[in-house]
Amino acid sequence: MSTETEAGKFCVACGAKLVLTAIVCPSCGSPVSGSGSDTKLITASYLFAAFIPIIGFVFAVILGVKGKIGHAVACGLVSLIAIPFWSGFLQGMSGGY
Ligand SMILES: [Zn+2]
Repeated sequence: MSTETEAGKFCVACGAKLVLTAIVCPSCGSPVSGSGSDTKLITASYLFAAFIPIIGFVFAVILGVKGKIGHAVACGLVSLIAIPFWSGFLQGMSGGY
C-alpha cells in the first residue's frame, strides 16, 4: 500500500506541509486526520456510488483529488459493481425475459 505521492496536504492550523499519512501536524501538533466535511464527503460518495453510480464516479474523482486514494478506489469499485446491477434491475423491470 503506497501512498507516497508528491501531492501532500497542508495543516489547516499553521499551513505546514504534511505527508498523506500524518495524523497530527509535526509543526504545531494540530490533529489533521479527516475533517468533518471529509467524513460527510466520503459517506456521500459511497451512497452515490451504490445508488447513482455515475455521480458516485464523480465523487470518487473528487476523493482522489483530495488525496483519499483508498476511498476513491473503493468508491470507483462500488460504482463499477452498481452499474451492471442497476442496468440488470431496470431491464428486469421493463420485462426483459
Ligand atoms: Zn500545523
